[in-house]
Amino acid sequence: MDDAAVLRVALEEAEKCTPTPTAFCVGCVIVAHFPSQAILATGYSRELPGNTHAEANALAKARVLTQSELAALFPAYTGPPLSVENDVLPSADVYTTLEPCSIRTSGLAPCADALIAAKIRRCVIGVGEPDDFVNCEGAQKLKDAGIEVAWYKGLEKECLATARKGHVSS
Ligand SMILES: [Zn+2]
Repeated sequence: MDDAAVLRVALEEAEKCTPTPTAFCVGCVIVAHFPSQAILATGYSRELPGNTHAEANALAKARVLTQSELAALFPAYTGPPLSVENDVLPSADVYTTLEPCSIRTSGLAPCADALIAAKIRRCVIGVGEPDDFVNCEGAQKLKDAGIEVAWYKGLEKECLATARKGHVSS
C-alpha cells in the first residue's frame, strides 16, 4: 500500500466517528514493516470510551497486540519476539487524516505528545488542523522531536470535510 491507499483507510476510519459539534472526526492508521508491510492498528475519534482521539486509540490498540497477532501480521519475520513498544512502534509510520493535536483542554495528553512518547518514525498527515477550537502546533512538535512529517497532497478536502462532520457551518 502506498501513502494514498493507507490514508484512504484512515479516511474510512474517520467516517466511523460519531459526529459532535465540539470535536473533529479523525481517522488514524499505524503501519509497520517486519519486513512486509502490515497495518498494525487503526483508530478513530471517540472509538474508545471517553473523549478519545484517533491517534491515541490506534496506539492503545497496537499496544495490546499479542505475540500471535504480531506473528500473523508479519508472517515473514523470523527474528526474536517483537516488542510493540521497543521494536514495532519505533519503526512505525502513522497516518492521520488531521494534524495530531498539540493542546488538549480536557486534560488528556495531546496526540503529538503521545506519538513522540511512542517514538514513531514518520507521520503522514492528510490536512492541517484548522483553528476552529485551538491553534494546533502538532506537526511542528513532531518535527522538533525528530519525527519525519509528511503532508500528503490531494486528500485535504476529503479529510477536512470528514473532520468537520456535525459542526455548524458558519
Ligand atoms: Zn489528538
